[in-house]
Amino acid sequence: MNKLILSFSALFLIIGCQQSAEEHKENKHNSKHWSYDGETGPEHWAELEGETNCNGNFQSPINLVNFKTAEDLEPVDLHYAEETLLHDVVNNGHSIQYDFEHGDFLIHKQDTFHLKQFHFHEPAEHLIEGVRYPLEIHLVHQNSDTEFLVLSVMVKEGQNSKPFELLESYLPIQKGETKLIQAPFDMSQNLPDQKGYFTYQGSLTTPPCSEDVTWIVFKKPIEIALEQVELLRYLMPINNYRDEQPHHGRVIYSTSF
Ligand SMILES: [Zn+2]
Repeated sequence: MNKLILSFSALFLIIGCQQSAEEHKENKHNSKHWSYDGETGPEHWAELEGETNCNGNFQSPINLVNFKTAEDLEPVDLHYAEETLLHDVVNNGHSIQYDFEHGDFLIHKQDTFHLKQFHFHEPAEHLIEGVRYPLEIHLVHQNSDTEFLVLSVMVKEGQNSKPFELLESYLPIQKGETKLIQAPFDMSQNLPDQKGYFTYQGSLTTPPCSEDVTWIVFKKPIEIALEQVELLRYLMPINNYRDEQPHHGRVIYSTSF
């Protein structure tokens, strides 16, 4: 019995060491450590070593209110294909992130933005007229000048989502772990049917809070089952969202549809 306890303790020690080695590697990679609470939480992000824009005037997320309806805004020109491969899923300690292989893209103002990855915030970061949804998905795109366009999809609890079943078949995933997927995933199946949206200029919602982000936030949420939300919630830091940031005179545009 004692032997058994000993070998269990040894096992935990080994797992513990591996985790701290992973964290160390991650910290070294990012060169700064941040989190969603306490000493390294959002109110301290601007004090992190190195360049951050976290104190800038064009920060995200925001409360999407007092918007202007722009009649000339067209539907998002999406080019998401059924056969695009999801490469892997990673638990980076801040969120659960699914990385795409090259394939999906969208065209915005004659510029091509490639879909790199999507990840989750629980609860949502953007507010829609003061309303916070239980979950927000960020679809991160980049153009050839490495400028960002993030498409945001709100999620509410409801029907079971078929596409999420594939995503969740790779969960749970431990902090610091990456799992290869290499299976096709049709991102267009995870978007709301009605594609009206809000758009504004903002930032990444995590350090270094870079202010070169075009945000497109769909007005309507998609639905996933409560158990599906909870599986993600269990794997991510509690409340991995940043509080709403001041508008500082920015204009938020809304589609007329
Ligand atoms: Zn995000």
